[in-house]
Amino acid sequence: MALSSGSKAILIILDGLGDRQSKKSGWKTPLQLARKPAMDKMACEGMCGLLYSISPGVVPGSDTAHLEILGYETPKYYPKRGPLEALGANIKLNHNDVAFRANFATVDEKMNVIDRRAGRIDTQTARKLADALKGIVIDGVNVTVKHTVEHRCVVVLRGIGGDDVTETDPHENGKRLECKPLESRSAKTAQVVNKLAMEVYGRLMNHPINKARKASKLPEANMLILRGGGEYFPVPTFAVRFGMNATCIAAGALYKGIARFVGMSAPDVPGATGDGNSNLKNKLVAARKALKSHDFVFLHIKATDNFSHDGMCLKKAKMIEKIDREVIAPLLKAIGNDVVIVLTGDHSTPCCKGEHSGDPTPIVFYKKDNTRRDGVKKFDELNCAQGSLGWIEGKHVMPIIMNLTDRAKKYGA
Ligand SMILES: [Zn+2]
Repeated sequence: MALSSGSKAILIILDGLGDRQSKKSGWKTPLQLARKPAMDKMACEGMCGLLYSISPGVVPGSDTAHLEILGYETPKYYPKRGPLEALGANIKLNHNDVAFRANFATVDEKMNVIDRRAGRIDTQTARKLADALKGIVIDGVNVTVKHTVEHRCVVVLRGIGGDDVTETDPHENGKRLECKPLESRSAKTAQVVNKLAMEVYGRLMNHPINKARKASKLPEANMLILRGGGEYFPVPTFAVRFGMNATCIAAGALYKGIARFVGMSAPDVPGATGDGNSNLKNKLVAARKALKSHDFVFLHIKATDNFSHDGMCLKKAKMIEKIDREVIAPLLKAIGNDVVIVLTGDHSTPCCKGEHSGDPTPIVFYKKDNTRRDGVKKFDELNCAQGSLGWIEGKHVMPIIMNLTDRAKKYGA
């Protein structure tokens, strides 16, 4: 149920949307190349600008960028990646739980990592191996291992506190790293991580699946290597901070995890995959349905970032066209003047770089017949730079939404 009076809002984040011009693409960005009449209509009738999700020049991770845009300043509210992945994998976390991302890996008898992904072990096999890692208790600490996809897992050390430890994932094949504490409170965490490695090796070394893999000359999945450890702590919910009952429509576990971290619901959407084949129509249906029962909907689409990381500028432009056709156009038709629509990216991922960059991303705030029109006609990096908002930071997005939804309280008398 809606929490309070005021308009509703839908925040649409196209991951890695911003780009740079390159020779390969005729000195145009994917947004400039794409035919996207609905996004351009939003630019014509809304307020435009550029968004630095953290601050100018900072290269954001998707996790920190989203938290800042959702109004959770990261120096205070960033639990690091592990807890967000754990929440995304539907693991319930309690204060002081320390969560890590983990890979099934192959080590030799001297504990050297031979393959960081155990031959990119398939989802079904990895899940069976994770079943063999249930019920582990080390020095009184309960350990949860949950498989997610392919060679990936999440590992949670319950109630241990202290996440300032080195990673055991060497990030390239080589020696398996020993976990070391970087401050005294994390000494026990390091100790448990190191003992856990031996427990995992003991349980998996002679597992029938690994015996069969060895016989077939496949790398055995006999170790878990850990990275991105972070200590979970509860934060004031989005509903408490902004007075809006919120939900998230996303495919990727990280984005669902971020939403759950700030107290939003994050249901599964059938056919939503987080890649170029994701069922956008189902996501649109889910978002429209969610708007009936919620004040705030966060809709995330990942594929733009995937094409950027692969350097596929034209495919990114085609994806933008598909999003325009299948999400933005029908949304503009369906939504009246009681919903604010915000369209942006979490950061730029220039195709020519294949990685995130500190360049800002276009942003538009649109409320049918009810936002200041600033003369910008196209939704892209160059045109939005001429918009009335100038450049803003992630932390400004929620206050602007609060103003446009008529929910902001007067500052002063
Ligand atoms: Zn991102």
